[in-house]
Amino acid sequence: MKIDGGCFCGQVTYEAEIDPARVAICHCADCQINSGTAYGVIVPVDNDAFTLLTGTLKTHVKVAESGNRRALNFCPECGTRVHAHNADGDPGFIGLRVGTANQRDQLKPNKQAWTRSALSWVEDLSGIEKFELQPDLSK
Ligand SMILES: [Zn+2]
Ligand SMILES: [Zn+2]
Repeated sequence: MKIDGGCFCGQVTYEAEIDPARVAICHCADCQINSGTAYGVIVPVDNDAFTLLTGTLKTHVKVAESGNRRALNFCPECGTRVHAHNADGDPGFIGLRVGTANQRDQLKPNKQAWTRSALSWVEDLSGIEKFELQPDLSK
């Protein structure tokens, strides 16, 4: 499936060829902190199936629990994390952040990784009060 997308400010744009059956949630603490939210959603992309169309990415290298160094690549202007890959040697696959894809609503995850560190409330959001648009969050 062909997808396209980019960062929040629009400087970074890309297109990629992905398998929608490989979309996964990542509950690792690094994804929680790095994304600023409850979990990451990624889809693996082969290196040659990803094309950066505009912009440049800045890299922050993290050391994973396995000891592997992983390059987290984000827009230097708006900070949107676009993808990650191995920092050394063979970059392996690119872990593309699904939230940056224009087709994200069609990319439903079918796997959850790192459930050991999943937030305790994330399984069931159905009991949380809902508003169709922005409620007054100051109260
Ligand atoms: Zn940006
Ligand atoms: Zn993660």
